[in-house]
Amino acid sequence: MHIPEYINKVLLRLEEKGYEAYIVGGCVRDTLLGRVPEDYDITTNALPVEIKKCFEDKKTINIGEAHGTIAVVSDGHVVEITTMRVDGEYDDNRHPRNVSFTRSIEEDLRRRDFTVNAIAISRTGYVVDMFGGIDDIKNRVIKAVGNPYERFGEDALRIMRCIRFASTLGFDIETKTSDAAHSLAHTLSCVSKERIFTEFSKLICGKNACGILLEYKDILCSVIPEIRSMIDFDQKNIHHAFDVYTHSVYAVGNCPQDLPLRLAAFFHDIGKPDCFFIGEDGQGHFYGHASKSAEITDKVLNNLKVSNKLKDLVTELIKIHDRDIVNTQKALRKLWNNISPETAERIFPLKIADTLALAPEYHNRTEYLSKAQEAFEEIKSATSQIRENTLALNGRDLMEYGIADGKEIGRIKKLLVEAVVNGEAENRKQELLNYLKKIGG
Ligand code: ATP
Ligand code: MG
Repeated sequence: MHIPEYINKVLLRLEEKGYEAYIVGGCVRDTLLGRVPEDYDITTNALPVEIKKCFEDKKTINIGEAHGTIAVVSDGHVVEITTMRVDGEYDDNRHPRNVSFTRSIEEDLRRRDFTVNAIAISRTGYVVDMFGGIDDIKNRVIKAVGNPYERFGEDALRIMRCIRFASTLGFDIETKTSDAAHSLAHTLSCVSKERIFTEFSKLICGKNACGILLEYKDILCSVIPEIRSMIDFDQKNIHHAFDVYTHSVYAVGNCPQDLPLRLAAFFHDIGKPDCFFIGEDGQGHFYGHASKSAEITDKVLNNLKVSNKLKDLVTELIKIHDRDIVNTQKALRKLWNNISPETAERIFPLKIADTLALAPEYHNRTEYLSKAQEAFEEIKSATSQIRENTLALNGRDLMEYGIADGKEIGRIKKLLVEAVVNGEAENRKQELLNYLKKIGG
């Protein structure tokens, strides 16, 4: 098993001072899966003060001394070292009333959530795997350490972590563990929204997001109740073979693993049930659903304490997701100029993912979209976006030109932006003035 040198140095130092030290948790799991871990967690039977003493000659940071975590800088990397511990009694499906340190690696592993996360390996390759985590990694299953009802009862966030790992690793969930997750889903209401969203965003970007979103919708409803109206909502429309929820989940699965894109795909039709009516053609229609969906998504993401930046991007994508794309230079230039660059990067992948989640006979619509996307990409790289404040002339220039009224200046600026976007004038001062003269403005 490969352990990077800067981690080995930390393990070795702790050993030399007479302590046990292991890498543990996600980094062991990922390494056994042949992936490069994002970060390494080290656990040791040295107490926090003892850890600091071991690394007196190095920079150390108290990350959470009460919980036993000290960070050490090793060869320029920040490495977290946590004292082995047992969690005390749990109060409210979330908070251990107290934690106490232990000198036993077995005790520390016992408090961890899943068998695949409860394996420790020493610098010399000595493995502690009391719960069969290595076999579970081989068999690709998520299984709670001990009794899943008790473990989820102690900390409801583990329910979200359970389905998150199943999604990102593409693992199944062992039956008793998934039964417990379903039956304790309601206890997730005690967990902070930020923590829920952290897990949800990893889940939705996972390689098996589609399967998990379909199989565990009850759990998702308990954290995002607004999605309930999508489930089983019959669209009564020939373009659609699935209910609103299933269609949305398929759209998620058809998107690249990018968070804004997948969130937009998941929520893009959440406003449909509110906009539904049967037209004279006997078909279900949903006029105005894009802005309704954006409005609901804004509330949902606010509730989940998502940053404004991410929320604005997701809602902008949703707002324009069903706009018709016309593959002409003029229309595409206008589209490019009217949306943020982040939205422009994603609108075609979103539309293609949405189309591929329609009834199969409409999938060939993606051909038109892909061609338009090519043209759009060229426009994007060749043209900079233009706004009123990036026009090559300003209000003073227009006043000199003879336009006195403030309102009129505003109107002319808009008109000039449009002319540049349409390719009728270049964004150069003299050209813009010539254009104004030409149109008699
Ligand atoms: P990731 O790759 O997302 O970081 P991870 O397994 O490293 O996955 P972390 O949240 O970094 O997850 O936690 C590190 C380790 O701490 C886990 O592998 C697990 O052993 C333990 N752990 C984390 N959260 C919990 C929890 N809520 N209950 C029990 N053990 C937990
Ligand atoms: Mg981790």
